Amino acid sequence: MEKHKKNEEYQISITDLGTNGEGIGHLEDGYTLFVVGAVVGDTITVRIVKAMKNYGYGRIMSIDVPSPDRIIPTCPVAAKCGGCQISNLSYKKQLEIKENKVRELLIRVGGFDADYINNIFNPIIGYSDYEKSQTTTPVHFRNKAQYPVGNDNLGNIITGFYSNHSHRIVANTNCEIGSPIDNIILEYILKYMNAYHVTAYDESTGRGLIRHILIRSGYSTGEVMVCLVTNGKSIPSKKEFIQELISLNLNIEDSSINWHIASICLSSNTANTNVIMGNNYEVLWGQGYITDMIWDISFRISPLSFYQVNPVQTNKLYKQALLCAGLTGNEVVWDLYCGIGTISLFLAKRAKQVYGVEIVPQAIDNARENATLNGITNAQFFVGKAEEVLPAYYAQNTNSEAISPDVIVVDPPRKGCDTVCLNTMLQMSPSRIVYVSCDPATLSRDLKYLCEDGRYELKSVTPVDMFSNSIHVESVALLQRND
Ligand code: SAH
Repeated sequence: MEKHKKNEEYQISITDLGTNGEGIGHLEDGYTLFVVGAVVGDTITVRIVKAMKNYGYGRIMSIDVPSPDRIIPTCPVAAKCGGCQISNLSYKKQLEIKENKVRELLIRVGGFDADYINNIFNPIIGYSDYEKSQTTTPVHFRNKAQYPVGNDNLGNIITGFYSNHSHRIVANTNCEIGSPIDNIILEYILKYMNAYHVTAYDESTGRGLIRHILIRSGYSTGEVMVCLVTNGKSIPSKKEFIQELISLNLNIEDSSINWHIASICLSSNTANTNVIMGNNYEVLWGQGYITDMIWDISFRISPLSFYQVNPVQTNKLYKQALLCAGLTGNEVVWDLYCGIGTISLFLAKRAKQVYGVEIVPQAIDNARENATLNGITNAQFFVGKAEEVLPAYYAQNTNSEAISPDVIVVDPPRKGCDTVCLNTMLQMSPSRIVYVSCDPATLSRDLKYLCEDGRYELKSVTPVDMFSNSIHVESVALLQRND
């Protein structure tokens, strides 16, 4: 392979998408180029902007033959904003790419045989209204967004979203995938900041007050939470801020939802960190939570609790998880990484007893409240790390039926499960393990581990698209014990 240099130009075909949604193409000698903004199927002229030994980064000089799957995003800031990485691909193609990614990782990282995977693999569950679309992608589907606040070069206060791989804010108060009311609230908060001389946080100096604006919207109840993340304990003109915010008219055309502010909170975060929220929050007005419903269960969600961001697709995801759990009413079930108890409570309605484990104490407070709120008495919740709570429980409760459950459900963050947790799961030896995953690479790694000695067999994998326009994909996998 030749050594390539910066500023060389070539015409290449884009054949793959990288982990951040960038296009990948190869020069004739095999040298790999990563090109932001290029999509699979494009033929482009590219200029090398950074050359490493075996690969480099390129910039599009011209799109010579656009991919048949390329679309023009309707969002005006799509090209600059780092929030959506693949909004220039048709939704149909987005789904195809995600499905293939899960399949490939199961084979490459999971070590499963390709034919075997093809037999147990279900097609990706997409957003029905758009599933076949070659021209449009889902809009306004998220129930939560955290918008950073800062200053532009002229000193104006702005909010929006970070550009790719940076903390430079692309100003935009009208996020196309955010909740439809976010725009009204963000515009108001900018107005408030200007009117009352409230400063925006500056990461480089550690000065300035408002860091992020968290907005959470309950699509089934219309309840809205606004939580300001601040570099300090309080905000100027608090009374006026609250009064004006709760007086906003959130009625928007084309929405049958009666949106209203139910909660205004403040989470103080004075640390020089990329972590958005502080460790605690204070209620400035209303409740410390919003309520939302999934099927027949209501959930209270605090600012610090995790809640699936796409209500339409969450229904389908949980339905898959429940199907996999195969409950008849007599089962003992663990729900690890349970958040506010969403999956736990659905399981509890169909099982004998459920045990939930979650690391965030406020989420467990919500989970317990949610059980009570819905009259569910057969769910017990533990605060702590799954990899600590589960082994400790297993060691200390030799006679409890909880140490030999029928089903274990896990729904870990992207890094997947800790091996200590996986080992205890294997020791507990449930007849089924349902793995809900937001990262197919760690899913594949963990499934490999769980299946290694032949005790468990992978029965099904179903990808679900929760994050349209991004490269992320959720999956539900079912493992069954070989008896
Ligand atoms: N099942 C829930 C939450 C899934 S998100 C739902 O569908 O709503 C993953 C959750 O795991 C988050 O709530 C996160 O706070 C929690 N978590 C992260 N690391 C953990 C750990 N080591 N042990 C237990 N919970 C953890």
